This record gives sequence, C-alpha cells and structure tokens, in this order.
Amino acid sequence: MIRILIKNATILTMNINRDIIKNGAIAINENRILDVGSTSEIEKKYSADKIIDAQKKIVLPGLINTHTHLSMTLLRGYADDMPLKQWLEEKIWPLEQHLTAEDCYIGALLGCLEMIKSGTTCFADMYYHLENVARAVEQSGLRADLCYPLLELGDPNRGEKLLGVGTQAIKSLYGMANDRIHCSFGPHATNTCSAGLLQKVKKLADELKVNIHIHVSETKGEFEQFKTQYGKTPVEYLQDLNFLGANVLAAHCVWLSDNDIKLLKETNTKVAHNPTSNMKLASGIAPVPKLLASGVTVGLGTDSCASNNNLDMFGEMKMAALAHKVNSLDPTLMPAQKVLEMATINGAKVLGLKNEIGSIEPNKKADLIIVNASKPNWTPLFNPYSNLVYSAHGDDVETVIVNGEILMENRRVETISEQKIIEEAQKKADDLVKRSKLGGK
Ligand SMILES: [Zn+2]
Repeated sequence: MIRILIKNATILTMNINRDIIKNGAIAINENRILDVGSTSEIEKKYSADKIIDAQKKIVLPGLINTHTHLSMTLLRGYADDMPLKQWLEEKIWPLEQHLTAEDCYIGALLGCLEMIKSGTTCFADMYYHLENVARAVEQSGLRADLCYPLLELGDPNRGEKLLGVGTQAIKSLYGMANDRIHCSFGPHATNTCSAGLLQKVKKLADELKVNIHIHVSETKGEFEQFKTQYGKTPVEYLQDLNFLGANVLAAHCVWLSDNDIKLLKETNTKVAHNPTSNMKLASGIAPVPKLLASGVTVGLGTDSCASNNNLDMFGEMKMAALAHKVNSLDPTLMPAQKVLEMATINGAKVLGLKNEIGSIEPNKKADLIIVNASKPNWTPLFNPYSNLVYSAHGDDVETVIVNGEILMENRRVETISEQKIIEEAQKKADDLVKRSKLGGK
C-alpha cells in the first residue's frame, strides 16, 4: 500500500526531456515519488491509501522561490514608491529595529500561508530570528533554505558577532523537520560586508558544505561605487576574493558587465532573478537572457513582500517573461517554457537540490502541485506552459504536496490555520508600527 496515487492528470514532468504525460499518474510513497506513467499502468501496479483524481488538472513540480525575506510579509504595503537606499534607510531598517522574535514568527507563518496558497513548495530566505522562521516552516510543511543576514555595516565587531550567530544557527537548525530545512550563510550584500568577513564566510561555508546567499549588484549606485572605489565591478571584486562558486546564490545581479557574466558562468555561481522587486524599486532589469545564453543557472524569486508586494510565483513568472521582451523589444525572448524552468528545475539547481526536487521523476522528493485547468482563465487550453505563465495565477493551485504530505487540498490548508494567521498578522503589524512611532521596543 502506497501513500498517495494521483491519476488522470496532465503531468508536466520538467525532467530532462521535458516530457508531458497526458492521462498520467504518480505514485507517492513515504516522502518520495515512487513511479510516474500512464494512469492505466500505474493503477494496475499500486493500491494507495489516498487517491486523487486529477482529471482536467495539471500536475507540475512545486514552484521554487529562490529569494525571499519571509518575515517581512508583515511589512507588506508599509512603504512604497521610494528609491532602494531611501526606502531601506528611512523606512524598512528603522521599523525592523522594533521587530520581535514573535513578529518574525507570525510574519513567516503569513508568508508560508501565502506560498502554499499560490503553489510554492520551497524557498530560499534571508532574515533575523532564524529559529522562529524555521519554526514557521516546520509547522507549515514547506521546504526551505534559511540564512541569517550578516549586516556588518562597517563594524568588524558586529560582523564577527553576527557570523557567530549565523554559524550557530546553521549548526542547530540544518536538517530539521525531516531534512525539509537547510541553512546557509547570509552575508547581506557586497556593499554591506567587508572583504575580510566575506572571506571568512566563504571558508566556513566550504568547510560546512552549505550555501551562501548574498545580494549582488542590485543597483546602479552599488555598481558605480565599486568601479570608483576599487576599479572593479562588484562581481569582479567577489571573484578577486575567491568568493564566487557553485555554492553561492547571488540575488539580483541587475548590473553586470559582459566580463561579470563570464565570471558567474566560469565559477558556476547561481543567480536569483527578482523582476518585480527590481521594477518596483526601479533598480533596473537584470540581463537574464544573456545570463541564460551564457549557461548561468538562474532561478526566480519574489524578494520580500515589502518590495513586491506578494509571494505569488505565477505573477513573478509573467513579469520575468514580459520584462525582458519589452526591454529588448524582442518578443521571442524568455518563452513560457524557459520561464517555468527557472521556477522549477533551475530553482532546484540554484539551491543545490537538483537531485531531490524541481521535477517529477521517480526517487525525487514528492514536492508537487495540482492546478485546476478548467477555470475561465484556463480556457481554451492549447499549451500548458503558456497558460501557466501568461494566464494563470496562484489561486488556480488546488492541491500542494511537499515531502509526500498534503499541505493544501482543494484550497483548504491542512497544516496551519489560515484565519488565525491572517488575524494575528494584522494585529502584529499594527502593533509594530505603533511601537516604532512611539520609539520603544
Ligand atoms: Zn533581498
């Protein structure tokens, strides 16, 4: 007896051949995919505790969000329409000073809830009170790679202290929740950490065999500051520190020279592309078509809800497709299938999990979503890639399975309480803003 059998589905496997199986079935046992094939063949082989009839539905790998700051979901809509530096320094950072561990927990739960409801099954996150973010992830049933932000800001003592906190978090949290939670180092950005701290992080990450998640070349200001100060780009600067590498996840990479793209490729550094955040903060449009053409692995991210302002990867996919077309006046760039690859299998590669998630294949972890394809915005259906990227939205996701567990079925979240989290999050957000205006803690 296996755990779950999904039948009569159109399956977008996202395997190496990008096979689409019509009238297909998936057998799930424990936390892994046991078998994939035609419904008649799979039904004959297995009997299951739970059978899901996915007629007129699309099954695809769960979406992977490669750059978030989940607890900041509590800051959604707090400050908009400002330049990045001013937005951070005048609005976000002052408010963050008043964030408690409990705020981070509720903010993370709210983010987990939104992700489940829009089909994201795994994400890479950078934020404070990491143990509370981990607690929210554990309860929600999602999968994540979490890191603590090392925001050194010119103070080596602070950098050293935060590095200790970050290292301790990795040691205590990595592998928790049946290995759904991984941890990495989070040196905040090239321009907020010293060269010495970046080198220490790199050495430790290599020793502990964990990833490094860092913001790189997000704004023109940062790019030009490095050129003036060091005579090199932020990416060249990182390369000269021997920092780049296969375990480095560089978020944004909006401002890149051709040589930077070459360096990212040569070092197998991974990139998280966040088109909505980059557009909202007017940071620019990352040269993603060039990165992909050069063979750099690029995943997709929403960034935080303070700069997006949601976590819906369907919206992000559409933005990723459209931004590059209009930017280059070339509608052939970023076709739908390529964009879906960024949100699934490439996201898995970005997190170093390509053997575990990102496609529907035997032996991979059972992380998948079922999308209702009989809604008005899905009709007619000629090409599932097209509908997923250009006409679908997160609400079309009906059922979400992570690690073989059903987190949402027919839009009802099973693991955490939707109503309670929404009420609690509004209250915590109101209290936080009130506290920050009073100047207390
Ligand atoms: Zn970010």
